[in-house]
Amino acid sequence: FYIRRLYLRIQLYEMDAAGPAIKHEFHGDCFNRPIASAPDAWFDVVERYSNDYNKTLKLTKKTSRCLNLGSYNYLGFAASDEYCTPRAIETLKKYSPSTCSSRVDGGTTDLHNELEECVANFVGKPAAIVFGMGYVTNSAILPVLMGKGGLIVSDSLNHNSIVNGARGSGARVCVFQHNTPAHLEEVLREKIAEGQPRTRRPWKKIIVIVEGIYSMEGELCKLPEIIAICKKYKAYTYLDEAHSIGAVGKTGRGVCELLGVNTADVDIMMGTFTKSFGSCGGYISGSKELIQYLKYTCPAHLYATSISPPAAQQIICAIKVLLGEDGSNRGAQKLARIRENSNFFRSELQKMGFEVLGDNDSPVMPIMLYNPAKIPAFSRECLKQNVAVVTVAFPATPLLLARARICISASHTREDLIKALEVIGRVGDLVGIKYFPAEPKKA
Ligand code: PMP
Repeated sequence: FYIRRLYLRIQLYEMDAAGPAIKHEFHGDCFNRPIASAPDAWFDVVERYSNDYNKTLKLTKKTSRCLNLGSYNYLGFAASDEYCTPRAIETLKKYSPSTCSSRVDGGTTDLHNELEECVANFVGKPAAIVFGMGYVTNSAILPVLMGKGGLIVSDSLNHNSIVNGARGSGARVCVFQHNTPAHLEEVLREKIAEGQPRTRRPWKKIIVIVEGIYSMEGELCKLPEIIAICKKYKAYTYLDEAHSIGAVGKTGRGVCELLGVNTADVDIMMGTFTKSFGSCGGYISGSKELIQYLKYTCPAHLYATSISPPAAQQIICAIKVLLGEDGSNRGAQKLARIRENSNFFRSELQKMGFEVLGDNDSPVMPIMLYNPAKIPAFSRECLKQNVAVVTVAFPATPLLLARARICISASHTREDLIKALEVIGRVGDLVGIKYFPAEPKKA
């Protein structure tokens, strides 16, 4: 009821802002759920037009092909790839799409072991365990790692899979201000002094959870400072690299590589394969003892069907391309390309007067809309001009911090990006979201 009422308000606001001439179409994205009969880019069935998700995507019931600025396909591996695709197809023929078994009941093939070894080597940890879904990796692992008498200190903007995993663990959960090491220290100091509720005994275990790149902010984690605090207060660090592994760092090894952090200083490294690797699933990487413990105790390992073999092969191949083990330098080119594309797009948006969140090198680029009433107008006008963007708002963001979230890929060409900038520039003027003066164009 509350959500519907809020929607009516948004409708009225937009009528005020745009006048009655605009036919209202609402994006379900606003509340992450579809609104009855509202045409919606992200709940409509999309058709793929090229073999590359980032280029063209046709929204059914509409005729236009769009440039996709919403996909997490950071390195363009979610496309037909000369190295990955034939091998994934061979694997499909050899092993079928599913093992139809859990890891401990005949669902472990040589590929599953190879994948775990490959991931551990790539991220720079002694061992790894893989799961069929990234979301489940967080939500199933945290209850195994933590329990009653434990303390979880979580960044206030951590992903929902972390929030659910933390809640389900039975540990005490505290939140620190987003990416603010000083506040993390304050929370740790206070909670350690208080001890466990009622008994006042010391916490059995303390874990601090952060993300490498925050998915709604595009911001890099202040990892070196956070690690120093964790060491000082004897807390474990848990780093979710869903948006940073493969996407940043000279060789794609994520925020540790980018920020010069030794991976030995991060106790638990988590990541997903749905972004840079163009596949599906997730991993936890850490010490041999930790991974062994998880393999014997984690229900998602014991009772869930193992990751699909072709998906596993896709990840192994994508990592080999990144390491140059396919015999080409395509991996290095992709990494250089995503960095150039991201930095180019961000600086051009800023020059036009948009307020863009996030840090350099981050492929995640939120453009601030602020007023939720601007969401439908912005996304609809972009869509009309064949550019598909994702818009996010409450409850994924605070109510008055609505934004359009652009994700840049190595497979976007310079022409794609220039076209998208022209469209976003025009729509920005129309909707009134250029909050800063534009930089004069060089002659
Ligand atoms: N962690 C973070 C930070 C994410 O953004 C996401 C999803 N985008 C996940 C975990 C879940 O990953 P998946 O979509 O691969 O299940």
